[in-house]
Amino acid sequence: MELVQMYESLGLSRAVYEYGEQVLASLESRFAAVDQVAEYNQAKVIRAMQENRVDATCFAATTGYGYDDVGRERLEKVYASAFGTEAALVRPQITCGTHALAVALGANLLPGDELLSPVGAPYDTLEEVIGIRPSKCSLKEYGVSYRQAELLPDGSFDYDAIRAAINEKTKLITIQRSKGYATRPTFSVQQIGELIAFCKQVKPGVICMVDNCYGEFVETLEPSNVGADMIVGSLIKNPGGGLAPIGGYICGRADLVERCAYRLSAPGLGQEVGANLGLLPSLYQGFFLAPTVVSGALKGAIFAANVYERLGFPVVPNGSEERHDIIQAVQLGSAERMLAFCRGIQAAAPVDSYVTPVPWAMPGYDSEVVMAAGAFVQGSSIELSADGPIREPYAVYFQGGLTWYHAKLGILMSLQKLVDAGLVVLP
Ligand SMILES: *Cc1c(COP(=O)(O)O)cnc(C)c1O
Repeated sequence: MELVQMYESLGLSRAVYEYGEQVLASLESRFAAVDQVAEYNQAKVIRAMQENRVDATCFAATTGYGYDDVGRERLEKVYASAFGTEAALVRPQITCGTHALAVALGANLLPGDELLSPVGAPYDTLEEVIGIRPSKCSLKEYGVSYRQAELLPDGSFDYDAIRAAINEKTKLITIQRSKGYATRPTFSVQQIGELIAFCKQVKPGVICMVDNCYGEFVETLEPSNVGADMIVGSLIKNPGGGLAPIGGYICGRADLVERCAYRLSAPGLGQEVGANLGLLPSLYQGFFLAPTVVSGALKGAIFAANVYERLGFPVVPNGSEERHDIIQAVQLGSAERMLAFCRGIQAAAPVDSYVTPVPWAMPGYDSEVVMAAGAFVQGSSIELSADGPIREPYAVYFQGGLTWYHAKLGILMSLQKLVDAGLVVLP
């Protein structure tokens, strides 16, 4: 069977396929650059595994307390080597990215300390962790204050405001690499390095932490290579490579990571406990695959930006910008288009392809949200997914794709559904 016929059997028309091929023809050099980063990062991960003598004994399951868990200890060394840090805490007991961030903050901020975000508002779920929105057990409840410096209108750092915000109480500075679902730009590793250098110049000894979610392996460097004292992320995003079924990581200075381990388990126990429950093979193999998986997701994001930009829709980042995370926003301008887009993503999924995404009220949102995902791991956003609140400017956020070919099919199917509904006309 020809490729076009195979695609037709999946519901993709020749016209949409050919439009996609036209767009792709212009992306060769972009994709080559993505491949080069992936090749470098693949070598980096292999070197980290070799340096730490990963072998079959690392894959054994442990239960109970998990004392002397060689595989768990070595996986943490692999993360530390790959990210260039003294220490790492990589655990299935860290349930998600928010949990990892809450552990890192809670462990290293004490009553009377102040937390500063020099990059504007943090990710939604951190509002309750910090106490920006009141919550039980927030940092605020424990006497940790919070301050933020807004970005300048063009999305760059407001160095004057940051200098003014740093005071004698400022203990930890949290820098979110990815824009997440905000409209500001995502920061490059180089920009983050400059920001950290500035903060440490104003206050030597201040702890700089980077929320690294969605950023891992997008560039050849990580924020830990440019001065971050801790980097924090989720294993059901980039570094889990789609195989990790749960988990989070905190990599950084040994003294800070040790406090995180004490916070996660208990003072005195720290990193010595935490059975791996047989999950280590997927954590190792997922980390091994992550550079390639991230490159597929990046190609999908670049392709989506160009497919929709040429049809006249505003896209963030735009079709030619350099990428610093895997998220792509497409402003579709109407609820009908958002729903059609999501139906296409869903129809291309290997799992749950037969269901129809419908808008739903979600806790924490003031409007309904539509989500499309057909994932092997629930909620995994390194797998192809799209979502967005049904309100102005009617933007869908699109991310992930375990393989480039799946991302490509998903994007083409999203366009197919728009064309079928008469909501987009091909040029
Ligand atoms: C996803 C994300 C988080 C939170 O991670 P969860 O795993 O959803 O709890 C925090 N910060 C950023 C920038 C993220 O993208």
